[in-house]
Amino acid sequence: MQKANINWGELGFKYQKVDKVYVSRWKDGRWDDGVLQDDDKISISISATALHYGQQCFEGLKAYTTKNGDIQLFRPDMNAKRLQNSCKRILMPEVPVDKFIDACLKVVEANERFVPPYGTGATLYLRPFVIGNGDNIGAGPAPEYIFCVFGIPVGPYFKGGFKPVKMTTAKYDRAAPYGTGGVKVGGNYACGMLPHQVAVEEGFADCIYLDPETHTTIEEAGTSNFFGITKDNKFITPDSPSILPSITRNSLLTVARDYLGMEAIEGEIKIDEVDQFEEVGACGTAAVITPIGSITYNGKKHIFHSEEVAGTKITKLYETLHGIQFGDIEAPEGWIVKLQKECAK
Ligand SMILES: *Cc1c(COP(=O)(O)O)cnc(C)c1O
Repeated sequence: MQKANINWGELGFKYQKVDKVYVSRWKDGRWDDGVLQDDDKISISISATALHYGQQCFEGLKAYTTKNGDIQLFRPDMNAKRLQNSCKRILMPEVPVDKFIDACLKVVEANERFVPPYGTGATLYLRPFVIGNGDNIGAGPAPEYIFCVFGIPVGPYFKGGFKPVKMTTAKYDRAAPYGTGGVKVGGNYACGMLPHQVAVEEGFADCIYLDPETHTTIEEAGTSNFFGITKDNKFITPDSPSILPSITRNSLLTVARDYLGMEAIEGEIKIDEVDQFEEVGACGTAAVITPIGSITYNGKKHIFHSEEVAGTKITKLYETLHGIQFGDIEAPEGWIVKLQKECAK
């Protein structure tokens, strides 16, 4: 199969049109079978709830090419279940897990020439989403829904090497204590754009949100979860209902415990006790891990390991999970779903 003419190593995180997108519609209580279409535009009602009331949720996962040329997804069942939780929270019909995984595999297969080759560090990023549609101007659930999956080739995250970033705490909240922070709904991201821009203007890569109730414990960044590693080798990541449960974070808990012999803990991290950590990082599908060199809180800068180079433990965590995702290191059972290709392609 002839790959698309793309300089894989130079790819960023940008939208581009590929060959096919998957679209399925829900009406009268059921999802249709879905189609693969060439057009990357969908037509929706101007009164769609997705446009007015934020009745929308999404996912993000990647397809990886392994050394022997197989294409594989990493824990897509976890994304499917998380999308179901998001749908439930904002009264949208759930997409069955099998339908979700099948749609992702169809998009990968139909766009195989855009799946970056092994060794480039690039991947095919998949963006499944569900939106409320139909003619309905009242602030209630929509009469119709669309489930769509598209894919784009994206570059290796760390072009200049695996280097730490500087962060600051945010003076805003991204979620309310009993709000929607724990689900991946669009509304959580619109409200994070200003705090992110403020942090960038102050010279930081991003901001870290504190818990919305007391502003004393660390929650997460706008699109990634947080973790720290103590001097005595404990991997700790916050546990809160207003944090979006990252699949990378969940996977790192297993990697830390079962592959690297660390103690892996989900628990409260007080911002006042952040100096207990030797190394800290943010994690998510896009970058896997972003090492954090310093956090500025209340005008004081807390440095972890170094602002210039990543620590050894965080590097080991990154290499191990990255290796599992690209098939270089054996994955725990059930983590990998391979694209079944016809033999004579
Ligand atoms: C998507 C997301 C993450 C990362 O989740 P992964 O499943 O690891 O990609 C973390 N925090 C927020 C707020 C997110 O939206």
